[in-house]
Amino acid sequence: MSETTEFSNQKQILGHPQGLFYLFFAELWERFSFYGMRALLTLYMVNVIFEALAERDFATAAVYASYGSLVYASTVIGGKISDQILGMRNSIFLGGVLMAIGHFVLAIENNMAFFLALSLIIVGNGFFKPNISTFVGTLYEKGDPRKDSGFTIFYMGINIGGWVAPLLCGWLAAKYGWHYGFGLAGVGMLTGLIVFWSGIKKNVFGNRGLPPNEEVLGKKVLGIKQGLLVPVLAVLSAPLIAFLLSAYKSVATEGLFAGQNIVNIIFTGIGVTVLTYLAFIMYKATLDERKKLFVAVLLTFFMTIFWGFHELSGSVITLFAARNIDLEGIMSAAQTNSLNSMFIIILAIPISMMWTWLSKNKWNPRTPYKFGLGLLFAGISFYILAISGASANENGLVPFAYLLLMYFLLSIGELFMSPVGLSKMTDLSPVRFMAFIMGVWFLSSAFAFQIVGFIGKQLAIESDDKNVGGFDTLEVYTGGFDLIAKYAIGAGVIVLVASPLIKKLMGKIH
Ligand code: GLN
Repeated sequence: MSETTEFSNQKQILGHPQGLFYLFFAELWERFSFYGMRALLTLYMVNVIFEALAERDFATAAVYASYGSLVYASTVIGGKISDQILGMRNSIFLGGVLMAIGHFVLAIENNMAFFLALSLIIVGNGFFKPNISTFVGTLYEKGDPRKDSGFTIFYMGINIGGWVAPLLCGWLAAKYGWHYGFGLAGVGMLTGLIVFWSGIKKNVFGNRGLPPNEEVLGKKVLGIKQGLLVPVLAVLSAPLIAFLLSAYKSVATEGLFAGQNIVNIIFTGIGVTVLTYLAFIMYKATLDERKKLFVAVLLTFFMTIFWGFHELSGSVITLFAARNIDLEGIMSAAQTNSLNSMFIIILAIPISMMWTWLSKNKWNPRTPYKFGLGLLFAGISFYILAISGASANENGLVPFAYLLLMYFLLSIGELFMSPVGLSKMTDLSPVRFMAFIMGVWFLSSAFAFQIVGFIGKQLAIESDDKNVGGFDTLEVYTGGFDLIAKYAIGAGVIVLVASPLIKKLMGKIH
C-alpha cells in the first residue's frame, strides 16, 4: 500500500485519525500507573522501606532521585532500540508488560522486591514512553496542521491519568494499605496494554510502528534472534539496576565524590560525555546551524532547571504536604500529587488559545521570553510556599490554599515551557542531528532529578520519630522554598535579559 493511500484510508474521529484515540487511552492508563505509583513512592519509602533509619528522608531523596533520573534516561536507549530493531509496536508492548510486572511486584511486601520493581518500571518506561509519543507523530502526514492539536489531545490524556491516579491510588493506600494502591497502578498499566492491543486488532494503525525491516527481528546476535535477545537483556538488566538503586549511600565522605552515590556519578559521566559530543557537533556544523544548536542547548538547560524544581512535587513537596499542610480532610498528602495535572487539564487549552490570539495581533512572545516567564512563574510558586509559614496554626500546619495556588502557578510555568520547547527542538536542530537532540531533550528530565536529589538531601529531616512534623519541619521547608524561589526568579530574570540576544540567534524561528 502506498503512503498516500495509507493516510487517506484512515478513519477519522473528531477530525483526527482514529489511531490517536487508541494511543490517547493507552498513554492515559500508562501515566495512570506511573503517577499513581509516584504519589505513594516517597511516603512509602519514608514510612516503610527506610522506617527504621533516622536518615530516612536522606535515603528516600537519594533513591527517588536515582529512580527519576534512570526512568527518563532509559527512554533514550528505548528509543534507539525501537528505531533499529523492535519498531514502536513491539517496544510499547515490551515496555508495558515490564511496567505492569513492576507495579505488581511493588505489591509484594519485601525490600528487595521494592528495588527490583522500580528497576522493571525504569526499563519498561524506557521502551514505552518515547515510542508511544513518536507513534502519535506518525499518524499524520508531514506538515499536517492537525499535528499540534493531536499532541495537545495526547498531552491531555497524560494529565487525565496524572490527575485521577493519585486520587484513587492514594485513597486505596490509605484505606486498605500501600500494596492495594500499587496494585491498582498495575491494573492501570494492563488496561493501557489492552487498549493498545485492541487498536492493533482493529488495524487502526495501518502499517505504522512495525520493525524497520522484515529480517531485523530474526537476525541472530550471539546465536540468539534479536527479537528475543532484546527482551531477555531488558529483564536481565533489572537486577543490575536494582543494585544501583539500593546502593544509595554516599560513595565517599571526602573529596570529589563526597555525598554522592553511584547513580550520581554515572550521571556526571553521562553529562560530560553529552556536552563533549555536543561541542563536537557544533564544531562540525555550519555557522547558522551552530547558532541554532546553541539555542537548543540553552533551552534544554533552562528546561532542566525548571523540571528540577517542578519534580520536587513527588518528593519534598509531598513530605511538606504530609507534615505541614492542614489538609482539612480535603485530600491526603499522596493525593496532592494530582493537583499539577488537574491544573494542566484546566489551563492547557486556554493557554494555547491565548498564544493563537496573541499571534493574530502579532504579540505572541518569542520562545526565550516564554521560557523566562515560565521560570519566573516557578519562582513565584515556590515563593508562595515560602511565605506560607507565616500563616501556620498552633500545630505548625499551613492552609491548603497555599499549595493550591502554588500548583496553579507552577502549571502555568509548565505550559509556557514544556510544549513550546518540544516543538522548538524540531525547528532548531538540523535533520541529521534531530534524534540526538530529542534524546538530549528527554535527558533534561533525567538530569532534573539530580537537582531534585540534591535539594531533597539538603531538606532531609533527621529524626528518630518517623511522624516528625509541625514547627520542627516547617522552618526547614519554608527556608528551602525561599532559596529555590530566589534561584528560579533569578534564572527567569537572566533568561529575560538575555532574550533579545537569544532571539537574534534563532533567526526566523519564533
Ligand atoms: N508530565 C509530563 C509527562 O508525564 C512530563 C514530565 C517530564 O518530562 N518531567 O509526560
